[in-house]
Amino acid sequence: MRTLISGGIVVTASGSQPADVLVDGERIHAVVEPGTDPASWQADRVIDATDRYVIPGGIDGHTHMEMPFGGTFSVDDFASGTRAAAWGGTTTIVDFAVQKKGTSLRETLDTWHGKADGKCAIDYGFHMIVSDVNEQTLKEMDALGGEGISSFKLFMAYPGVFYATDGEILQAMQHASDSGALIMMHAENGIAIDVLVGQALSRGHTDPRYHGITRPPDLEGEATSRAIKLAGVAGAPLYIVHLSCDEALTAVAMARTEGRRVFAETCPQYLFLTDDAMAGPGFEGAKYVCSPPLRPSWHLPKLWNGLRTDALSVVSTDHCPFCFNEEKQLGQGDFAKIPNGIPGVEHRVDLVYQGVVAGEISLARWVEVLSTTPARMFGLYPKKGEIAAGSDADIVIYDPRARQTLSARTHHMAVDYSAYEGREITGRVQTVLSRGRVILDDGRYDGAEGHGQFLSRSTCQLLG
Ligand SMILES: [Zn+2]
Repeated sequence: MRTLISGGIVVTASGSQPADVLVDGERIHAVVEPGTDPASWQADRVIDATDRYVIPGGIDGHTHMEMPFGGTFSVDDFASGTRAAAWGGTTTIVDFAVQKKGTSLRETLDTWHGKADGKCAIDYGFHMIVSDVNEQTLKEMDALGGEGISSFKLFMAYPGVFYATDGEILQAMQHASDSGALIMMHAENGIAIDVLVGQALSRGHTDPRYHGITRPPDLEGEATSRAIKLAGVAGAPLYIVHLSCDEALTAVAMARTEGRRVFAETCPQYLFLTDDAMAGPGFEGAKYVCSPPLRPSWHLPKLWNGLRTDALSVVSTDHCPFCFNEEKQLGQGDFAKIPNGIPGVEHRVDLVYQGVVAGEISLARWVEVLSTTPARMFGLYPKKGEIAAGSDADIVIYDPRARQTLSARTHHMAVDYSAYEGREITGRVQTVLSRGRVILDDGRYDGAEGHGQFLSRSTCQLLG
């Protein structure tokens, strides 16, 4: 199958130019001057991309499909979640396999392969959440590198569930520094947060907005600084997940200025939503409960600045959907029981494009933070994250002028609300190719469960 993507503006992390893209089978064959004669390329299919951007498919490095939580699961499984991702121009996800205390990483990985195998519409890889740091786990971390698992997430939050002590974190980092694995960190001081949560509840402060009040930015900033220092002692690279506030950003920016191998991602919810959402009427605020929490509005321009200056390297979603009318209701009368998470895998490409519209970031930077840097960060480049000969034909054709309104009525995630309900935005995904196959075109979905393949990832490619 030969495809010609004709007349578009190819945008990569290094800039944009008018060009045609020749696709042969699952790969990009060449990027050439505009004006290719379809007959000369013997094209089976021609996609007219005039006045459209042609970009590498989005890579969402932080999703939680079918994630176990308190006896229930996040409501998108690998089928519905990857389908929704495709609708939104994301052609690769890296999801998290979650180690339960007392189980091995081996068992955990097998379980997650079982959940995803034959279900995914787009290609996928796994990070591993390590919740039980011990000798056996540390050995397994090394072994899993050979199976394409090159990144491991630890938690400074959630005592009793995922929490790791500073000593455990240091040990895991030492192992990572030997093996080349990347340690990902949920950086919030969970011990201090639990004290604040207990105090709030004992005063009868049970509404969703107390979720934010009990997780102040200083406790994210403190944990971020501590993680950076521990990584420095271990000589290991560090990736801070879902950075939400200026306090943490300042710590990362300083570390990067010092030349430390520290990276961070933020998420659309921290770029577009504020803590006001958690104070909505009735129980509405529960829709916006995620950790770290949404922050006061003055943090938002700081995060955009962080994206411009490369203090923040990546935008991922932390997609973790729970229905408002079901799972979120577990937190009625106790904000600490609200399942943490916001749905977002479908809207990352569109939302971050609003930063281009507003002049916050350039077109090239849009592609870089959504696709090219995640590809390099998670060992997928140049197979993914690039429009060039030899790369997988994971391609999005993007209409920069289309208007759309985000809504639960029209989205494709299996969740009953949108965190961006009624928001009018500019730009829309028109066509999506996943390894050469057109899976979305002009509002028609033609993907298939099982088309997506597991990606065995190499180590982080940004470490020089
Ligand atoms: Zn997460």
